[in-house]
Amino acid sequence: MAKAKFRLKLARQRGEQTSKEFGFDRFPIDPFDIAERSDILVEAKDPQMDGVSGCIIINDDGVGIIYSTRVRSQGFRRFTVAHELGHYFLDGHPAEIEATGGFHASRAGFTQGNSSIELEADHFASGLLMPTKLVRDVLSGENVGMPGITALSLDADTSLTSAAIRVAECAPYPVAAIVSQGANVCYGFLSESFKTLGVRRFLRKDDPLPASATREFNTDGTNIRSGKSACAVSDLSCWFQGPSSVSLDEEIVGLGSYGLTLTVLSSEALPEDPYEEDDEDEKLLEQWTPKFAYRR
Ligand SMILES: [Zn+2]
Repeated sequence: MAKAKFRLKLARQRGEQTSKEFGFDRFPIDPFDIAERSDILVEAKDPQMDGVSGCIIINDDGVGIIYSTRVRSQGFRRFTVAHELGHYFLDGHPAEIEATGGFHASRAGFTQGNSSIELEADHFASGLLMPTKLVRDVLSGENVGMPGITALSLDADTSLTSAAIRVAECAPYPVAAIVSQGANVCYGFLSESFKTLGVRRFLRKDDPLPASATREFNTDGTNIRSGKSACAVSDLSCWFQGPSSVSLDEEIVGLGSYGLTLTVLSSEALPEDPYEEDDEDEKLLEQWTPKFAYRR
């Protein structure tokens, strides 16, 4: 596993462990409570800086977190506070922030984080708010695809996007979550078992959307602004140049004022990952892949 990827996994696990240490064994996990019990002052303020969702101040007087009042969604505010908590709980983060003057502004929310501590804090927040075991408990009672993501978002009180990313990380079945804007891809996450379906091309930031129901959906701005949804049938060749025999459900939802669209690709008919308890163990996945190929 590449070093950067390993660090992100550690950050997510540290988030999960922090929830546990503070006694949270069910949804929703309250990052405001964790901050209060850690003697961290949390305040809502207008940051007067575009795109800044929150910040953390670490100095001799203590630690403070500010989240932006410009962010209206409660799920996004909770993610922002959880992200800032990552800068407090993750090894090396407080030292790095203190070394740069004790103030750090964040653009939380799995957007286009470019520095390593931003990505690590996003993964910490994701683990803190959506621990693997609790996510899988929710998914086991829901249908594959958007229903599981919606249920997680409601139970965990997080945004639909962060729930979709977490489902792609934890789901025992093949699922892909893609966020787009207009004619282009912003980012996408595939579950480990989705990658083994025969994906030949990964979608990257700014890639054009393939000719799909999502691209059609995005041509009408009111679909996105008013949070409309749509469903279509697609296949692996359309999105990932894989075999066209792998049919996929394409579930689409407009994310409102952010101007983004979430697409979830999945299928009830696709086989489950038999190593769901160990699906992050890449060795096991490698052993399993040839067996899977026979079942295609
Ligand atoms: Zn940050």
